[in-house]
Amino acid sequence: MDLKGKKVSVIGLGNSGSSAAMLAADFGAEVWATDAGDSPALREVEKRLRAKGIKVEIGIHTEDYIKTSDLVVVSPGVEETSLALKWAKKHGITVIGEMEFGYRFCKGRIIAITGTNGKSTVTALIGQILKDGGFDTVVCGNIGNSLSGEIDRIKEDTWVVLEVSSFQLETIVDFKPHIAVILNITDDHMDRYSKFSDYFAEKMKVFKNQDKDDHLVLNYDAENLRGFEKIAKSKVSCYKKSTADIFDTRLKGVHNTENILASILVSSIVGVKSSSMLRTIKDFKGLSHRFETVAVIDGVEYIDDSKGTTVDSTARAIDSCKSPVILIAGGKDKYSDYGAIKSKVKAKVKDLILIGEAKDAIAKALKGASSVHSAKDMDEAVRLARRLAKKGDSVLLSPMCSSFDMYKSYKHRGEVFRKAVDGIRCEAQEARYS
Ligand code: ADP
Repeated sequence: MDLKGKKVSVIGLGNSGSSAAMLAADFGAEVWATDAGDSPALREVEKRLRAKGIKVEIGIHTEDYIKTSDLVVVSPGVEETSLALKWAKKHGITVIGEMEFGYRFCKGRIIAITGTNGKSTVTALIGQILKDGGFDTVVCGNIGNSLSGEIDRIKEDTWVVLEVSSFQLETIVDFKPHIAVILNITDDHMDRYSKFSDYFAEKMKVFKNQDKDDHLVLNYDAENLRGFEKIAKSKVSCYKKSTADIFDTRLKGVHNTENILASILVSSIVGVKSSSMLRTIKDFKGLSHRFETVAVIDGVEYIDDSKGTTVDSTARAIDSCKSPVILIAGGKDKYSDYGAIKSKVKAKVKDLILIGEAKDAIAKALKGASSVHSAKDMDEAVRLARRLAKKGDSVLLSPMCSSFDMYKSYKHRGEVFRKAVDGIRCEAQEARYS
């Protein structure tokens, strides 16, 4: 892509947008970057971009600059309703997403991992398997560091292990991964898409540009992912759980068996030796805030699954608990079908403690399935859980919702939970010694 003498506008200046702006400047474009928000973090970004000669606008968008752009690059978090996007469309300017933009400069072979749940875990695991197997590997995308920000590290023989969200797929044009993986597609983001089939269609775009030399890896256990070998132009391989799947691993839960199988299939396509693969699977610790035991206090296990932001991930977390569960859920409402886990809750969740904006919606959907309580914040929720818990129970934070109503991120929410658990651990210790 030749950007010399071109004017590129970048909308949204989080990690993705700011990296895209830097990349465009590196390739000789005149770059103008804009973000309607304003925060100390954005002001820091502004400084870095300005130091590179990029024009920056914070807290407002201006039509005049957008309308003279040759290309607009949009960050995945920017809504379709954004004024800047509307202007770009009005003036007939080509709009692409940050991932598509990065792709156009990417020399390496891409492994694109998408799905509703498990993307980060599988991206990190495949990345580690490839690195340990001796392959030059860059892990990036939705997992935290954008593709645009890694371009200078990527050579022709680099494997790029890329976590891809549906938001990023919305704005692809030529994006063509050598290996595409779809882990599962379940109910999510009903605050962004008007119907499930729209969300499903975005995920399916991950393989639309593939050809016969590429690979598509699908989860055969996910019924709605069957039959796509008929429409994909690439080679399709499927993985499926069986009763013989016992891996030496620290990853807990049935869902992680699926994640390991996906990772093994992809890594064998790349050509990693199985002995090396199994060693990495054994050592891989998993990522924080995904079904992670943070303490056992008076015989009660406390599990941080703050990244459990969908109904299906919470269903999997409940399945993965061996004992009766006290579930802490709620957060920013994504208008999910919370009732879908009613029978699971009835069977295994003895108490349901609700926090956040989606409290009422969840209480209504799960009425009668469990004893329902409300808490004003995480501290109160954890204290209440402790009072309700008996030896052998599990206290599980798995919210089914995103965190932005009360916290900066799922990480922040998980840390607040751990802090609250730490508080009761100290109290329990003090009680023992007093
Ligand atoms: P993502 O990046 O897609 O959000 P993560 O690996 O961060 O996926 O995990 C998010 C949540 O989904 C966690 O609660 C985790 O325990 C759960 N999870 C992980 N893998 C799967 C899977 N294959 N199916 C369902 N839930 C999963």
